Amino acid sequence: MGLPVVMVSQEEDDFCGDLAGVFSANQRFAPWQTNHVICCPDERAGDCAGWMGYGGCKKEYSHCICRVKPDEIVSGVEILLQ
Ligand SMILES: [Zn+2]
Repeated sequence: MGLPVVMVSQEEDDFCGDLAGVFSANQRFAPWQTNHVICCPDERAGDCAGWMGYGGCKKEYSHCICRVKPDEIVSGVEILLQ
């Protein structure tokens, strides 16, 4: 236990603002009691952009999460290895 975690998300970093506790999977299910980095897309894709619904992406396949840059995931791993 206590393993560090890099979480890759479909939600942009500031998804839902004050309502993040309701609609954000990042807020509700972030790795618990361990060091972690959450990698988010700069913005959601297509008709998900601006959509206010749980998790931020309304597609049933990998969609907004595909906008996370691989370099950012590598950077997340490097941060946790320091
Ligand atoms: Zn989407």
